Amino acid sequence: MRQPVSRGLRTRAIHGGIHVKRNRGATSIPLYYSSSFAFESAEDLAAAFEGRHPGYIYSRISNPTVQAFEQRIAAVEGGVGSFAATSGMAAIQALCTVLAETGSRVVFARSLFGGTVIYLREVAQRAGIHVDFVDMDDREALEQALDQGPRMLFLEALGNPRLDIPPFEEVAQLASARDVPVVIDATLMSPALFSAKECGAAVVMHSTTKLVTGNGTAIGGVVTDLGRFDWSRHCSPAIAREVDSVGPGYAFLAALRRVAGLSAGVTMSPFNAFLSALGLETLGIRAETQSRSAFELASYLSAHPGVSGVRYPGLESDPYHERARRYFHGGSGPMSGPMSGPMSGPLLTFTLPDRSAAFAAMNRLELALRATNLGDAKTLVIHPASTIFHDCSAEERDYSGVTEGLVRVSVGLENVEDIIGDFDQALADA
Ligand code: PLP
Repeated sequence: MRQPVSRGLRTRAIHGGIHVKRNRGATSIPLYYSSSFAFESAEDLAAAFEGRHPGYIYSRISNPTVQAFEQRIAAVEGGVGSFAATSGMAAIQALCTVLAETGSRVVFARSLFGGTVIYLREVAQRAGIHVDFVDMDDREALEQALDQGPRMLFLEALGNPRLDIPPFEEVAQLASARDVPVVIDATLMSPALFSAKECGAAVVMHSTTKLVTGNGTAIGGVVTDLGRFDWSRHCSPAIAREVDSVGPGYAFLAALRRVAGLSAGVTMSPFNAFLSALGLETLGIRAETQSRSAFELASYLSAHPGVSGVRYPGLESDPYHERARRYFHGGSGPMSGPMSGPMSGPLLTFTLPDRSAAFAAMNRLELALRATNLGDAKTLVIHPASTIFHDCSAEERDYSGVTEGLVRVSVGLENVEDIIGDFDQALADA
């Protein structure tokens, strides 16, 4: 039951995927915690395997709770359909497995989450997929890479933790002129603050572990086909097979389900889908509140004499502020009053003189938790150089702006004066 895209995002996030009549009046998405599903007859079961009889067969392939979450996300994104995976990394792996194979090429933005960099090095490149890392602001390099016939162009809506914002229209136009699908990892912004579809993406993905679920309870990932790409023009064998079988409109999703779900088994669990669907209901208000509090904390830190290099795209002084204004939005529009500026999500970074100063300040925090997640209801801090990026090369760290003094903060939903007060006492000696 797809919600019309004309309805507001918050409405779609609450009503998408709910079938009240079919679910005996239940107003929440029911949790079907069942591995398999029984059929009336052996003939029906055989027909279901052949795709001739409707129904769920086995939760590695599909499950009503997971499907309801997929429908809700697809409604929020304005997409054709979604595939929910065990984690954000599983979603990235699913994309690579379906769109590329040994000997083919893919283009990735240079500014990436450390886990994605490591996945590409440890898995994709070892499997013989050629990865070109390109700076999205280097038009010539991008054109050159796109001219090599890559299977996808993958970039983040807001680089983690570089907090850079690509020039989406230009990138999408260059890719579309060469029939290359643009995939945006919009994890840091969530669908509440960023529309990948409006920015020209063919596909959007999220680590739902973050803002979508929003309370740090469930690892998950989701990939949504935004219905903008003609899959009959893609030369991946996994897609070509589905173009012949289900047609170009659903070929990408069918390939994800067959290759990543049925064959590789990275399907999201029903319980995680239940938690993520529940989280999605409050995403709009959470993302706005977190953006406002992040803006206030970033403003406070910018004025702190012991802190340098505060980065938050919502700040007018930020190098990516103009792009944030163009691409980021919230349910009730840009912020007004003293916090004027675009809703830019929960993540900000700041710099202290070195690693020991960063560790000391982090250790003095009483409210914020030292933990590796983001978009959580709790404020979280991490030192990227010694954690997410500890396995990356010096060059990879440099490019992502990961220095020894860099601290990343994901602002939570606590009272903003308590968050600022916590940083104030932790930075008293800085
Ligand atoms: N993409 C981005 C931008 C991320 O920040 C993360 C995790 O932090 C991931 C993907 C991976 O997601 P997960 O931890 O759910 O596997």
